Amino acid sequence: MENWKPKTKLVHAGVKRSQYNELSEAIFLTQGFAYDSAEQAEARFIKAGEDEYIYARYGNPTVRMFEERIAALEGAEDAFATASGMAAVSGALFSMLRAGDHVVSAKALFGSCLFVLEDILQRWGIEVTFVEGTDLDAWAAAMRPNTKVAFLEALSNPTLEVIDIAGVSKIAHAAGATVVVDNVFATPVFQRSLELGADVVIYSATKHIDGQGRCLGGVVLGTKEYIRKTFEPFNKHTGPAMSPFTAWVMLKGLETIVLRCEAQARTCEVLVDALSGHAKLDRLIYPFAPDHPQLALAKRQMTQGGTVITLVLKGGKDAAFRFINALDIITISNNLGDAKSIITHPSTTTHQRLTDEQRTALGISDGLVRISIGLEDADDLLAEISNALEKA
Ligand SMILES: *Cc1c(COP(=O)(O)O)cnc(C)c1O
Repeated sequence: MENWKPKTKLVHAGVKRSQYNELSEAIFLTQGFAYDSAEQAEARFIKAGEDEYIYARYGNPTVRMFEERIAALEGAEDAFATASGMAAVSGALFSMLRAGDHVVSAKALFGSCLFVLEDILQRWGIEVTFVEGTDLDAWAAAMRPNTKVAFLEALSNPTLEVIDIAGVSKIAHAAGATVVVDNVFATPVFQRSLELGADVVIYSATKHIDGQGRCLGGVVLGTKEYIRKTFEPFNKHTGPAMSPFTAWVMLKGLETIVLRCEAQARTCEVLVDALSGHAKLDRLIYPFAPDHPQLALAKRQMTQGGTVITLVLKGGKDAAFRFINALDIITISNNLGDAKSIITHPSTTTHQRLTDEQRTALGISDGLVRISIGLEDADDLLAEISNALEKA
């Protein structure tokens, strides 16, 4: 398997067959596992071996198949699946940190990630310094002797800034800190954060891994040592395990993730080419757009520009709302990575909780809309967006 290319791993890695030799992966919808003898139960509680299960909060064969498949894609030694992306983010941080530790984090974060870092961690005596993620000097200046974690979203939401993972990793490692990357926007298809220097990578599987907007899930990837000695004890005793049904949906999602993400990125390129410089737009942001300020870095880190385009309309909130309300195929919702194209107005929804100053600092203006591109025909999306821009 080691020599297989990613697409082959995504279909075959991690398969475990029962005595029936079923072709499609089975859903082991069980929380418990029976032992042949008291001695076997005792031995398993001392040390459960490969493919030996105790309780579904600790592990389950369907969940394990998903973990092994995503680990194979990512080139990670091991992985642990969680009930949601936020269980993965918060668990990765809580499992590593204790009172008195210090964290340096990029300031442009997914709303719930910001709450965990800004509110919960600080309440528990862990100091967090927020930096401009694209400024390597700021990362270096923020490091302290007690800095344990550097946290970042490689592609920021919703302004699609690109953070230099290799650069941040070098600085963080010199300070003795662990680099934790939330790689959702870059996707496991377009970016290998571990190869770039990150120590721990997190996905909300809810997004591109499911890819059809069905289940909540998450996964944490890293070394065997970190996953088994640090993350597993935390997650199995605090509780946010992935359900076997969800794991099965995610396994099936991985089989098609390359096809989906590549098609979505191709559509993004068609839209970027056609809409750049449009009279109704202040800005069109896409990591592989020729005018993206970090185009060279984006091309170094990613194989394609991702599946999200951000538009900044002239005319603020009124124009943005007229634009959104004139759309038909593109649906108003706040998920992303779905087969269906989805539009969000961050300043009044996902980032509503922030103050005006915070939103301004993050570049989230009232005219900004985020579009997650789905699997519809690019021509239909372009016609619809062009028409809605006229009405904005
Ligand atoms: C969605 C998302 C999360 C949280 O994932 P859930 O599955 O919704 O819990 C975390 N980080 C980023 C960047 C996300 O887009």
